[in-house]
Amino acid sequence: MTAEPNERASNGPSPPEPVVGNVSVETTRTSKAVLVVGGGVVGCLTALKLGQAGVDVDIIERLPETSNAPRACGYFGAVHHMLNDIGMYKLIRAEGFMTRELSFRKPPKDDDEGRGGKVLGDIVANLPLCAPNDDLTEPGSGLLNLPQAQLNILLLREALKTGHVQIHFNNELTHITSNDDSGVTVLTHNPKSGAQRQFEAKYAVAADGAHSTARKALGLPYPGHTWPERLIATNVMVQNVEETPMHTHFVMHPTFFSISTPLQDPAMGEKTLWRWTLAADPALEKCSDEELLTDEVIYAHYARCMPGPRPLDVDIVARSVYKTHQRLVPTMRKGNVLLAGDAAHCNHPFGALGLNTGMLDGEACAEALIMTLKDSFPPAQTLNTYSDSRRKVFQFFVDPTSTQNKLRVHSNPVETAAEDDWLLRDLNHMTPKKAVEMVRPYFEVWRTDMRKAVQGQDDDPSALVN
Ligand SMILES: Cc1cc2nc3c(=O)[nH]c(=O)nc-3n(C[C@H](O)[C@H](O)[C@H](O)COP(=O)(O)OP(=O)(O)OC[C@H]3O[C@@H](n4cnc5c(N)ncnc54)[C@H](O)[C@@H]3O)c2cc1C
Repeated sequence: MTAEPNERASNGPSPPEPVVGNVSVETTRTSKAVLVVGGGVVGCLTALKLGQAGVDVDIIERLPETSNAPRACGYFGAVHHMLNDIGMYKLIRAEGFMTRELSFRKPPKDDDEGRGGKVLGDIVANLPLCAPNDDLTEPGSGLLNLPQAQLNILLLREALKTGHVQIHFNNELTHITSNDDSGVTVLTHNPKSGAQRQFEAKYAVAADGAHSTARKALGLPYPGHTWPERLIATNVMVQNVEETPMHTHFVMHPTFFSISTPLQDPAMGEKTLWRWTLAADPALEKCSDEELLTDEVIYAHYARCMPGPRPLDVDIVARSVYKTHQRLVPTMRKGNVLLAGDAAHCNHPFGALGLNTGMLDGEACAEALIMTLKDSFPPAQTLNTYSDSRRKVFQFFVDPTSTQNKLRVHSNPVETAAEDDWLLRDLNHMTPKKAVEMVRPYFEVWRTDMRKAVQGQDDDPSALVN
């Protein structure tokens, strides 16, 4: 998806263009209240909600169009209600589909036909998400599936439709300064031409991903740790031949663990698109990312975890390597800049708590800015409450849950995991009470109601500190 860059959003005559080095800096005198750094899902969702409230927003994005990298695809819990509240749930539901089950499996086993073929491994535990013919349409039910790249395009399209949002592709943030009184100044450069540009706004939202330049320019550290194994994420066309319904499933293994999830509703007997995400072989630790992405390496990984006849008849359509981390910034507010999504925190993707949490940040951060800009809430208290609330969500829910989701798949002996691990055991012996307890945090803890959170801060004098 592309949108024409706003060449010069002028608020009166422009001053002469300053020169930095040999490159002229085009000064954009903008009346925009908010500048969003990063046109990913979190940035576009934040801009959409602001635009819906009549707040003018510039988005700057370093790429020439929205990213197509193979990453998130499943959305659930309170995220459905948030998407419904901003008018997006039905649109996403119409383009996406419901995942039918989430299972934990042993590695595939021989199909006993003597030609090396494999069938799915035994189920260790299974979470049914919706019946095969169930067309869940109510927000809150099941796991809604739509590739992140498509979600990004949808959110951007709807944000632009508000008439209050503009996106400037090919503008990579190189520097950001925040001054509480006069607002935020951002310098960008065009990665292709080198042309530089300056944007100004009252507030900025740094949604520029895990390697956030904005976070670094603001001097914020990113404490936490990096998991030892890299992940190879592939989008792959796979023939659906299994009798057993094959939906999202983890392959449990101490080294070669993986998750596979459909990116299209998998019709039996047809080739459909899947995401296969594989823990990279530690023996290839010294290989570069490029070397991990060769057909040879990927097929060797598929061979261990993919069912089907051999040789495998699959077509890889996208591939990426990722390092994974558990990290959280010390504050999600620095002066007039709020951080959201992977720029503020990141976690292992098994369990789908990354983008989902980022979208809930986007909602809360847009709401905090609307309260400040439109409803005269005190800025310091409101923006600090955003930071505190969302950091608590990460510290008490997202970080431990995603850590344990990841460890569950590879650190428990697979033969005894179903009895040793409470979650796998509960899945196998589910009761209505256990089901309610299991999903409660995903509805009651994950999302932040900013207006209630600010009211709850009234007795806290530290909330008033800048
Ligand atoms: C294999 C894999 C699978 C995953 N699956 C899931 C899942 O199922 N569910 C889930 O919830 N999460 C999942 N995640 C995590 C999810 O992808 C991330 O949490 C999500 O992408 C974060 O969104 P974001 O908008 O914060 O950052 P990003 O998606 O990284 O977007 C940042 C944007 O900012 C732009 N940008 C970067 N630097 C600059 C700059 N200097 N100037 C201007 N623009 C800039 C980038 O080009 C990009 O468009 C997965 C991750 C991986 C690796």
